[in-house]
Amino acid sequence: MPNTIPVVENILSANDQIATQTRAQLDRDGVLAINVMASPGGGKTSVILKTIEALHDQVRIGVMDGDIVPLDLEKIAELGIPVSLINTGGNCHLDANMVHGALPSLQLDALDLLIIENVGNLICPAAFKLGTHLNIVIASVPEGDDKPYKYPAMFKGADVLLLNKMDLCEYQDFNVDYFRHGVEVLNPGLAFFPISCRTGEGFDAWLDWLRDRVTQRSSVG
Ligand code: MG
Ligand code: ZN
Repeated sequence: MPNTIPVVENILSANDQIATQTRAQLDRDGVLAINVMASPGGGKTSVILKTIEALHDQVRIGVMDGDIVPLDLEKIAELGIPVSLINTGGNCHLDANMVHGALPSLQLDALDLLIIENVGNLICPAAFKLGTHLNIVIASVPEGDDKPYKYPAMFKGADVLLLNKMDLCEYQDFNVDYFRHGVEVLNPGLAFFPISCRTGEGFDAWLDWLRDRVTQRSSVG
């Protein structure tokens, strides 16, 4: 057992070296890359689709998706957006090597924003840097208000938090104050947007936040 910790550290430092190379390539091509993380069913693809629909007239967007099947990606490709499927081979997270290997499949210098949809999982995706600039964490009302208390690493590493499916609040015992308190302890001042993909609630504020980051992308990091 004492040997397990150095092994994990070595894996993560090898991962970080590749992530650093990816970041350099993204910066050279002027692309802001975001890593979208959530539980399965939290609404990653729905948020991405709605975000693309709102922004793609002003922002050149590409998408990478870590998934086993291209189901979600086909919906995104229908919007006329360049997409790349990262075959995770059933892995429970994306790592820097998978993302780096997929970079040549997109014409990066023709993009302003690269959206990477991580594997649905609130645990290990938080531990693997991908070389992206911002971590977008999506929680959703049906998952319950205790998620920050159960999965602290995911919330600690977030640059923005979307709380999706707000339209279901009236049917669930979801205490937004309790949820936010858990987040605030881990990540004080974290940008937080309650949204609903179904009703569109809260989307304007999230889109403004993201649009600002894309505009300032050369200085984000
Ligand atoms: Mg999806
Ligand atoms: Zn994993």
